[in-house]
Amino acid sequence: MRIILLGAPGSGKGTQGPILARHFGATHVSTGELLRHEIAGGTELGQLVRSYVQAGELVPDEIIFELLRVPITAAAASGGYVLDGFPRNLLQAEEAYARAELAGVNADAVVNLAVPDDIVRERLGGRAAFGRADDSDPDVIERRLRIYHSATEPLLDFYGSRGLLVTVKATGSPDEVTAAAIAALSDRLPAH
Ligand code: AMP
Repeated sequence: MRIILLGAPGSGKGTQGPILARHFGATHVSTGELLRHEIAGGTELGQLVRSYVQAGELVPDEIIFELLRVPITAAAASGGYVLDGFPRNLLQAEEAYARAELAGVNADAVVNLAVPDDIVRERLGGRAAFGRADDSDPDVIERRLRIYHSATEPLLDFYGSRGLLVTVKATGSPDEVTAAAIAALSDRLPAH
């Protein structure tokens, strides 16, 4: 199964991603986690992307494509993927769609985890206590929200017009959101 998770920062992609992946026998692939791993490891790539991630800015598209190339190919070849944090803008979406179409591995569905901005602010403020640097500064949180609305939200139309979009209300408890997502997806996808 191949699923893309869309949603604002704090919408629950990182919580739902692994759970949905397990349910559908797929691999959770998170660009944010891959980037944080590179930064923590002090790799050359990590040093290159650190300032973007800390400031809440999008990392340049070509770096993201390179970062994803191996994990997404491996996941697509074995049970599929639950992609979390990608695409983040229209260029990434268009490029990924075209490349995946050639390889026959386009997403089966795109799940939009819908939450109002006020809940995002509450959740991200609370998450700062657990050490994500890009969640601790209110200015960075506001920038990430702005970038979500300007760059990422247009993807709802991109996938909606291709008949792939499933919207799930993501304001409830994690268990409620999981149940709603699985119910919405099960109409389209056979569970493993
Ligand atoms: P996330 O964990 O998905 O909230 O991502 C954390 C940060 O990683 C974002 O604020 C961006 O700086 C960067 N990032 C993650 N995914 C992407 C992407 N697809 N394109 C550009 N930057 C990204």
